[in-house]
Amino acid sequence: MKTEECEILIVGGGPAGLSVASTLPDDMPCIVVHQDREIGLPVRTSGGSWLDDVQRLGIPEDMYLPIRQSDAYTGGIGVTINLGPHVPVILHTERLYKWLAGLSDHKARQLWLGCKFTGTRQEGDGRYRSTIRDRDGRLREVRSRYIVDASGWHSAVLTSLGLARKPERLALGIEYEYPLGRNRPDRALIFVGDEVPSGYGWGFPTLDGTFRLGVGIISPDTDASPRQVLDALLETGLEQRFGLDLSGEYTTHGGILPSVPFEGRMLFGNVIRVGDSANFATPTVGEGIRVCIEFGRQLGEALGRTARTGRRWPLRRYEWRVRRRLQIDYALGFVVNRRGATFTQAHWNRTVERLGRIDPDAVAAILKSEFPPGKILRMGWHTALAHSRARLRRLRQRLARQGAASSGRPDR
Ligand SMILES: Cc1cc2nc3c(=O)[nH]c(=O)nc-3n(C[C@H](O)[C@H](O)[C@H](O)COP(=O)(O)OP(=O)(O)OC[C@H]3O[C@@H](n4cnc5c(N)ncnc54)[C@H](O)[C@@H]3O)c2cc1C
Repeated sequence: MKTEECEILIVGGGPAGLSVASTLPDDMPCIVVHQDREIGLPVRTSGGSWLDDVQRLGIPEDMYLPIRQSDAYTGGIGVTINLGPHVPVILHTERLYKWLAGLSDHKARQLWLGCKFTGTRQEGDGRYRSTIRDRDGRLREVRSRYIVDASGWHSAVLTSLGLARKPERLALGIEYEYPLGRNRPDRALIFVGDEVPSGYGWGFPTLDGTFRLGVGIISPDTDASPRQVLDALLETGLEQRFGLDLSGEYTTHGGILPSVPFEGRMLFGNVIRVGDSANFATPTVGEGIRVCIEFGRQLGEALGRTARTGRRWPLRRYEWRVRRRLQIDYALGFVVNRRGATFTQAHWNRTVERLGRIDPDAVAAILKSEFPPGKILRMGWHTALAHSRARLRRLRQRLARQGAASSGRPDR
């Protein structure tokens, strides 16, 4: 069997793995193995993001479509969400991922497409010997000092080493992609409630002149498959209810991402995780691409320094930065995720009605799973106040009962 030596093996050629490769030193030998035959295809994601983030990340303008109107629906209620200065965009993910791959074309990086990582073991000298199966079923070996697990929800490397388990809770998504037809080229919608149990649905135009309609549900919170949910929805006269044009042939794509609490550990010796294998997608709506690119780039820089000098602090700083940015926000976001999974239609009615009224910063904060204290205060002071009043009332009642018991008086 042929054995290839390199410094860094990256498993997974999604936005996380490709971003790591893009910031490694030009001369650092690196191999990216990717089980799909082409970067960015098949499509397994929707590509919703935010204008300020994609601009900050330097993503070229011809890779995203700005959305000017966002509507939310539940039951018979529909509202337009005021997002103020926060402009959602729809990324052209195939184009974006190919662009990300191109950023390391000039480097000492090989890209093995149609090649699946199947396992690894650490040898006496500390290096990893990994087995890769190519598209013709031939086995190849790669010896590397570091491995980056960027294999998405599969966590292929950590799982093969027994360091992680497949997530117990998964978000399963499916989309039907139609010709744009009479749909507006700048309007997106989300829908929630009993028709999309334990999840939500969406519809949006794309840069390709198509319209994607999709749902994401959480397994095992519901037994239904996403396809069943989407097909059932289509039978409810979605076109009339949401003002959509769903005529013409459609293509189907689907994907999976973890829906479990975020854990802050990124380093497992010389195996480092990034992206969905580290649960980077937001717990509120499952948006991960911008987070994967940002931290993927940081990991590439850190790993380059560590590989050069043998010092571990750059890698530790990468882990620390991920924790600092995501740990608290994602814990709060996960509370929203779990709470949403138990919502009744009445809860959704109230929530969607409020979405049409509340502060744009607060809506964006929930959608982005970003909860800095100022925004929490603005979002939650009514609720917090109501909770405090209820707590005070309960405390008063308890004290009254205790007082009554000690003085022999009955409870009031
Ligand atoms: C239905 C759905 C809708 C989504 N919508 C959005 C959205 O609107 N906006 C947004 O920002 N995010 C969205 N996300 C999340 C986003 O797609 C992920 O957060 C992001 O793709 C994670 O990037 P990644 O590089 O970590 O993993 P991935 O994109 O999953 O890439 C990992 C790659 O590794 C490959 N791989 C896996 N195992 C192996 C192996 N053993 N050997 C070799 N290669 C392997 C896989 O083929 C895969 O292509 C959505 C996800 C889903 C499922």
